[in-house]
Amino acid sequence: SFHKSKGQHILKNPLLVDSIVQKAGIKTTDVILEIGPGTGNLTKKLLEAGKSVIAVEIDPRMVLELHRRFQGTPLSNRLKVIQGDVLKCDLPYFDICVANIPYQISSPLTFKLLAHRPLFRAAVIMFQREFAMRLVAQPGDTLYCRLSVNTQLLARVSHLLKVGKNNFRPPPKVDSSVVRIEPRGPLGPVNFKEWDGLVRICFNRKNKTIGSIFRQKSVLSLLEKNYRTLQALQLSEKGPSDDMEMTLDVSALGETFGDLSMDADDGKDDDEMELDDGDAKRADFKEKVLSVLKEGKYEDKRSSKLAQADFMHLLSLFNKAGIHFS
Ligand code: SAM
Repeated sequence: SFHKSKGQHILKNPLLVDSIVQKAGIKTTDVILEIGPGTGNLTKKLLEAGKSVIAVEIDPRMVLELHRRFQGTPLSNRLKVIQGDVLKCDLPYFDICVANIPYQISSPLTFKLLAHRPLFRAAVIMFQREFAMRLVAQPGDTLYCRLSVNTQLLARVSHLLKVGKNNFRPPPKVDSSVVRIEPRGPLGPVNFKEWDGLVRICFNRKNKTIGSIFRQKSVLSLLEKNYRTLQALQLSEKGPSDDMEMTLDVSALGETFGDLSMDADDGKDDDEMELDDGDAKRADFKEKVLSVLKEGKYEDKRSSKLAQADFMHLLSLFNKAGIHFS
């Protein structure tokens, strides 16, 4: 019997398994990471294609089943099974990851892989169709969202294969897609907390103009608070140094995409900040923010149309003006 809570949907179509393995572009020298091998239908073909397979499986019954299946066959000495939760264990070295995963771990797993070092060549993963389409969505696409920009900051992603629900036993409620994820090389100094802070604000109302987003009272007061805090720190010469930025962990980006409806864009706008009681400081700060937007010509643009490089540029303009998001 299968555990629904563990997302156990076994691939029962051998042609589909072949097609996934073939599209993965496995080399005979590859160490392959498989997540959630289940009964081993994919594992078998991976063992035949690569040098070795390390499979991480949470369910002890499946681990047993897997050992039983390969015991006494020539494939068994090239298979290593780790019993445990892939989100909690240290990942071993691997060249390529190929997996039909439980969909509830899609987002944290994606960012765990992208935080893994040394960089691997590619991950070829079965996702729920909508999650897959969000991963690969480009600026201007309806599904373009925070998940798209954050993933594309760290990787090249492409859609490989549509998979109908009847290829699984038991069939899941939703259709699936196989996606290829290729991590980008060294990124240069990106402060992921800053990046995440900016991107969250921008996608909170992704169809509004950047200008109207940054005129909101709540946004301005948050940024102004950060600004004053940093100024105070710098006055006491304890300001954060630049090299600190290199050490932040990208996996922090992954903790936040559990909910696909995260940027449904149905919130209410805050009031625009009013220039009350001659609060000159606040008015000056608002002008400072708006002048950054003008400098980069972002005022009339919308997040739904901005590429990952645009957000990076906008962030650098803000930071240059001393405005920070974390
Ligand atoms: N790979 C098999 C196949 O394609 O037929 C099974 C895929 S099934 C969708 C997902 C598998 O992942 C199940 O065997 C389940 O027990 C396992 N699993 C669920 N959560 C996991 C976790 N956190 N870490 C590792 N494995 C997990």
